[in-house]
Amino acid sequence: THVIELEGVAKRYDSAGAPALGPLDLGVAQGEALAVTGPSGSGKSTLLNLVAGLDKPTQGAVTVAGRRIDRLSEHALARFRREQVGMVFQFFNLLDDLTVADNIRLPAQLTGTARKKAAARTVELMEILGIQQHARAYPGRLSGGERQRVAVARALVNRPSLLLADEPTGALDTASGHDVRELLVDLHRGGQTIVLVTHDLALAEACASRTIHLVDGQVALDTPAQALR
Ligand code: ADP
Ligand code: ADP
Repeated sequence: THVIELEGVAKRYDSAGAPALGPLDLGVAQGEALAVTGPSGSGKSTLLNLVAGLDKPTQGAVTVAGRRIDRLSEHALARFRREQVGMVFQFFNLLDDLTVADNIRLPAQLTGTARKKAAARTVELMEILGIQQHARAYPGRLSGGERQRVAVARALVNRPSLLLADEPTGALDTASGHDVRELLVDLHRGGQTIVLVTHDLALAEACASRTIHLVDGQVALDTPAQALR
């Protein structure tokens, strides 16, 4: 089954000229780790925003986790995002006045998960990601690599159908970048469906089971990974 299905999807920001993305068809299977590469302006962020339910297509159908998200109201979309999508960004986007544990737990709190259950899931993720010793620390005290682990834990707390990562190693030094890369590989091995937007071809090659390369809003290349799996 496909976690993501795009059918005849196009996005235009203005009515003149070619669309920023598409029209295109794209299916992403459950458990796939898809890397999206391409030059600046090729439509990578536009694609991610459509799949995340942060923006709507000009035409076509966007189905994620079995739902036509292009037809949802803003309110239903917000709920869809909280429940089905985990997002990781280049600059972490953590809340600096909440502790690590509170940052991770927040999305579970927002979906109304029972307190005990949310706390247990938070501890479980901190252990898996090796950040339990920082539970009561504030993000400002952590290294970039540690902050990105916290961001990944937060993204996973509601067990999303889909993990979206936008240049997750873009702000990290080589060693931390390598750690986050390994973490994404582990998540993929564990069956997590991932869409990763990156300029970093080494990252794409290491983490992804499939890479699509966008040029001018179209899929110019669609290749399975050679190395892994
Ligand atoms: P990438 O992420 O690959 O750099 P984007 O998806 O950000 O590409 O952009 C694709 C095209 O759409 C570019 O030409 C960009 O200028 C344009 N674009 C992106 N977002 C907007 C926006 N909010 N308003 C107008 N044009 C946009
Ligand atoms: P649909 O499948 O048509 O999107 P939903 O079951 O997602 O229907 O919800 C329909 C509407 O009910 C939503 O748009 C929202 O207004 C409201 N709703 C349902 N559940 C919640 C919730 N947990 N939190 C906030 N609003 C909700």
